[in-house]
Amino acid sequence: MSAHSALAGAPGNRLYVGMRLTILGSGAACAGAGGNSSGYLVEDADIRILLDCGHGVASSLVAMTPASEIDHIFISHMHADHFIDLLPLRFAVTKEMSGLPERRSCLHLPPGGVASLTQILSAVCFPTDFFENVWRVREYQAGEVYELANGLEARLASGVHYIPGWAIRLDGASSLTYTGDTAPSPAVCDLAAGSDLLLAEATLSEPEHGPVRGHLTASQAADLAVAANVGQLMLTHFWFDADREAIRAEAAQRFPRSVRVASDGLVTEF
Ligand SMILES: [Zn+2]
Ligand SMILES: [Zn+2]
Repeated sequence: MSAHSALAGAPGNRLYVGMRLTILGSGAACAGAGGNSSGYLVEDADIRILLDCGHGVASSLVAMTPASEIDHIFISHMHADHFIDLLPLRFAVTKEMSGLPERRSCLHLPPGGVASLTQILSAVCFPTDFFENVWRVREYQAGEVYELANGLEARLASGVHYIPGWAIRLDGASSLTYTGDTAPSPAVCDLAAGSDLLLAEATLSEPEHGPVRGHLTASQAADLAVAANVGQLMLTHFWFDADREAIRAEAAQRFPRSVRVASDGLVTEF
């Protein structure tokens, strides 16, 4: 399917056939000035899915679409740069609704995620039902298939990170796999097989060695894209000082199809 990066109208103004991806945050644990950490809005017909919700993502999201109209939120792992803006996002929902909504939307957390959020809510003196008041809160399992809507499914695979982390695949009008944070992982490669678009982290400038690994270089992300035979590759999860064009060029030497780098606000249809 064709892809372009022009701003294609506000979410919900559907002018496309496949899926639409909006980059809300392309930063790693510390994004550049004015940038956000991990957050990606995926639209398939009228279904809106938020993948991760790191620093700054809630504010960018509500500037373009109501927080209360997000149908599903998936958190890839419980590092702050992937979930901490669930707090302001939850406030945005109750502000928009002038109170508690019907709990139509679902927050999908990794195994153990409910306990992690409960500890955080306790630490910041919020009630323990803070999230459950507005979203149906569930913990997902690798290997399960989740039907999010008619013809739209989600699957997850365990990656290789410093804590348990998951990659997320969405299959609908087209297909997208998001690596989350991971070192090279056969399970993530299997999950991504044949995806129209692979949204892959490329955090490292040099590969990790030794037993403790958790991220990819641009070359490793490109190798993943080749092995999984994806249609196009978009790199993301950059430190504040990353040279994004150099990162793109590094990956393009190894992956022969379209390679782009994410930037906050970028919209692509595929
Ligand atoms: Zn991260
Ligand atoms: Zn992480």
